[in-house]
Amino acid sequence: MVLERAVQRRLIKAVADRVIVHAAELVELDQAIGDGDHGLNMQRGCEAVLAEIDAYAEMPLDEALKAVGMALVRSVGGASGPLYGTLFMALGKSLPADASREGMAQAFAAAVEAVKARGKSDVGQKTMLDVLVPVLQALHEARGDLPAQLRAAAQAAAAATVPMRATRGRASFLGERSIGHMDPGARSSELIVQAVADVMEGKA
Ligand code: ADP
Ligand code: MG
Repeated sequence: MVLERAVQRRLIKAVADRVIVHAAELVELDQAIGDGDHGLNMQRGCEAVLAEIDAYAEMPLDEALKAVGMALVRSVGGASGPLYGTLFMALGKSLPADASREGMAQAFAAAVEAVKARGKSDVGQKTMLDVLVPVLQALHEARGDLPAQLRAAAQAAAAATVPMRATRGRASFLGERSIGHMDPGARSSELIVQAVADVMEGKA
């Protein structure tokens, strides 16, 4: 799958900028049920990616995704660094030759499976997977306005983590007290999906 260089640059920039703008919110969410570092972890990772954006924009998309993943592993720290790193590296590895929705869905499915394997986690445990899996579902099932459906799926899924009890990650140490707060990683995944949807619509 090939993207115009300018579009690829916009895509990387839109995702990184969106996360950075919301870093304080991600810190607050992680203060409620974790150790409060998710926003700064993600900001550090996104700044590392932006520092190399010219190089990433020049690469074929699959190589760029792998390079972004490796940069996140190196720079993010916390549980989320290796998990987001795995997501992007696996997406790069399985990127289809064409840009069909089904091809993208298969690549994204492989990336989500890689996160599950890395995190020894699955949907329903109040993590980023509770957004990534419903977004994958939306990608498989979408009819018509794909960006709008991806955005809606991500938003609803992040909101749906509020009443969940965490059974993976740091929030699981809180047991019942993890209930009533949105999972920070679910929110960061929602932000990433929103930024991708914006670029698909030519808004970013
Ligand atoms: P840490 O928990 O090490 O402080 P972060 O605060 O950066 O790392 O990231 C926390 C987020 O990572 C959680 O909100 C959750 O979404 C995600 N997460 C943690 N552990 C797992 C796991 N095993 N599988 C999937 N996601 C996880
Ligand atoms: Mg944390």
